[in-house]
Amino acid sequence: MERFVRMVAPTSAATFVLELGIVLFICGLLNHIRDIIMNGPDHGTYWNNLGDAAFTALPMCTIALLLIAHLNKLQSSLHRQATRDDLTGLRNRRWFMGHCPAEFGPKDVLLFCDIDHFKRINDTYGHHIGDECLQAFAQHLIDALPDDVFPARIGGEEFGILLHDITESQIKQIGARIASGVMLDVPDNQGKRVTASVGITQPTGLMSLKEAFSFADQALYMAKKAGRADFRIFPTAPSASSNLTQQMPSPQGALTA
Ligand code: GH3
Ligand code: MG
Ligand code: MG
Repeated sequence: MERFVRMVAPTSAATFVLELGIVLFICGLLNHIRDIIMNGPDHGTYWNNLGDAAFTALPMCTIALLLIAHLNKLQSSLHRQATRDDLTGLRNRRWFMGHCPAEFGPKDVLLFCDIDHFKRINDTYGHHIGDECLQAFAQHLIDALPDDVFPARIGGEEFGILLHDITESQIKQIGARIASGVMLDVPDNQGKRVTASVGITQPTGLMSLKEAFSFADQALYMAKKAGRADFRIFPTAPSASSNLTQQMPSPQGALTA
């Protein structure tokens, strides 16, 4: 039904008039067929039958189309409220969880980002500047990602991103760009750089959603522990023995890939 409403709902005055014309044409046709069946050779012309039908169909169809247009607006607004975060306009946690695959494969990449020392921003400049920081960081994520990738706010100052079919160098480039953060306008007029820590997991084989989340969490924890404003990938593919792998501490209780 949702689809039907989206398809049928008039979106402008021109489509409203066009759709009303089509519906009236169909009503006239049905009335004409009824006339032929009932009266045989004595039936009236199509135009007479259209005129008869239009007398009742015009007000009814106008009301129906107006209601469908209204329903479509409500539907879109509900969908937006259910899937977007009010403050940043990004997708929300519900949307993110709904778009995560049940099983992550080697082509899937999961990123968790967490703004560094965010509490200090709230404590130093006030909650409203903290909110502005979240909005600026949301825009930073949009700028850092390809157009078809939608970052989501999954917690207070935490964001989740799903990437697919992307090279390791692109992953690192994105991770580094996100971690470098944004300049924030603060009341003392000295711009303040707000950085983020990024945990990235790219499965080497198949893994469950729970495992992928746990790995990305561990990678984020590594980035925080290593001093923040950076990214970590965990687990790393055996072939991709970059400096990153060598620098990486082994997390407490880490799962093996
Ligand atoms: P770390 O570098 O370890 O991540 O430290 P942190 O200060 O960023 O993390 P912490 O978990 O200590 O603090 C997160 C703060 O985010 C606490 C909470 O009050 C604040 N927060 C959560 N949601 C919002 C929000 O919508 N707006 C604002 N202004 N603050 C929020
Ligand atoms: Mg956090
Ligand atoms: Mg934080």
